[in-house]
Amino acid sequence: MAWDFETEPEFQEKLEWMDEFVRDEVEPMDLIWNHSGDVFDTKNPATRAVIAPLQDEVKKRDLWACHIGPHLGGKGFGQVKLALMNEILGRSSWAPRVFGCQAPDSGNAEILAHYGTDDQKKRFLEPLLNGDIVSSYSMTEPQAGSDPKEFKCRAFKSGDEWVLEGEKWFSSNARLAEFLIVMAVTDIDVPIHQGASMFLVPTDTPGIEFIRHVGLGSEELGEGMHGYIRYDCRLPEENLLGGPGQAFTIAQTRLGGGRVHHAMRTVGQVKRALDMMCERALSRHTQGSVLAQKQSIQNMIADSFIEIEQFRLLVLKTAWVIDRGDKAEARKYVAAVKVQTPKVMTDIAGRALHIHGSLGASNEMPLAKLWAQAPIMGIVDGPTEVHRVTIAKQVLKDYQPSDGLWPSMHLPPRVVAAREKFAQHLELEIGNQ
Ligand SMILES: Cc1cc2nc3c(=O)[nH]c(=O)nc-3n(C[C@H](O)[C@H](O)[C@H](O)COP(=O)(O)OP(=O)(O)OC[C@H]3O[C@@H](n4cnc5c(N)ncnc54)[C@H](O)[C@@H]3O)c2cc1C
Repeated sequence: MAWDFETEPEFQEKLEWMDEFVRDEVEPMDLIWNHSGDVFDTKNPATRAVIAPLQDEVKKRDLWACHIGPHLGGKGFGQVKLALMNEILGRSSWAPRVFGCQAPDSGNAEILAHYGTDDQKKRFLEPLLNGDIVSSYSMTEPQAGSDPKEFKCRAFKSGDEWVLEGEKWFSSNARLAEFLIVMAVTDIDVPIHQGASMFLVPTDTPGIEFIRHVGLGSEELGEGMHGYIRYDCRLPEENLLGGPGQAFTIAQTRLGGGRVHHAMRTVGQVKRALDMMCERALSRHTQGSVLAQKQSIQNMIADSFIEIEQFRLLVLKTAWVIDRGDKAEARKYVAAVKVQTPKVMTDIAGRALHIHGSLGASNEMPLAKLWAQAPIMGIVDGPTEVHRVTIAKQVLKDYQPSDGLWPSMHLPPRVVAAREKFAQHLELEIGNQ
């Protein structure tokens, strides 16, 4: 039967174990180590001591780094299973690290597994997959985020080395990373989608300068985890990842799955916001009744439930489309999920915050923090507008302009055609009157 909304029992058992494990063993970590960067600091002895046994347990249960495909030496769960896992992992900022699938390392590991040489895999992928180091992805430039045609960071050959020159903006976790994957223009004579290449750049390479560490929202100036970096360095030939001009093909490999994982983590987060909303609605008494008995509050709960269910189905269908291997169809669905993620988060986290009143707005509930993440989700990996264009282009591919002046659904000619089709019966009808 094709339409089946149940998970196979064997995997369901794994999910149930994960659910309990994340709640009891991992979520408490978020209450202690909750500064941006804590999750990525592999050198902190305290967090290392806490997560090492948890990671061992995950490995023992064969749930470690499940995003890596079987042909690349991983489990190859496929996107639907990964989505269901990420729904649980989304509840804790530590959970992806404990399960070896933390972005951007997960995407970086994917492209290394896919395009790396044996030496590159040994040097960069192995320690990354072991969780011993973290990495950074350095693509956005200060003058050009959404439009790669504006990229200026260049790399050119000089003898048997590459010279890398330029600036990158918002390279997440660069200050803790052991290496960066940097996109640079290597051929200015062809369109950027064929003229950019990827480089593996160890962070101790001479000529890397952190202009600033940029933070989010309320973080102190200079305290953030997003590097504004100047590159003026020389790299050995073998640090090119994939072939010259392959950067965009490589980048595409890391984004599809990553966006679905983000979206399903959002499902986990907004489900929890709905839990909080409902508990509060049943607990808070005002103007003669609990909030849950007021119709405006019931509307908020009902709308949130519907939106979560709709979004969850869209994300799971997207995962399924990716697993079926139709790349063009997957692009459309992945973009749809990307557009919808911040909207669902804004609406549901916003309602949950609102129902909690001042407590919701305070730093004593996780809701204000969750709600503030929503607009950021609309910018990371490209803004909503750009993804809407992708969707529209893919949707329009299935259509043709109408022949002539009138649309194909114009009623007058269709009525004439229908009359002709049913002429015999219409004559009978008239005859019977
Ligand atoms: C938390 C976070 C983490 C990030 N991590 C990384 C990272 O690790 N590595 C990395 O390389 N980058 C990273 N980025 C950068 C991210 O990829 C860019 O922010 C994104 O591509 C948008 O680029 P921009 O910020 O320059 O915005 P701009 O390109 O300046 O866009 C600003 C706004 O202009 C509008 N706009 C842009 N293009 C269009 C269009 N075609 N049509 C209509 N309107 C448009 C949109 O409203 C958009 O929000 C991160 C960003 C955030 C917020």
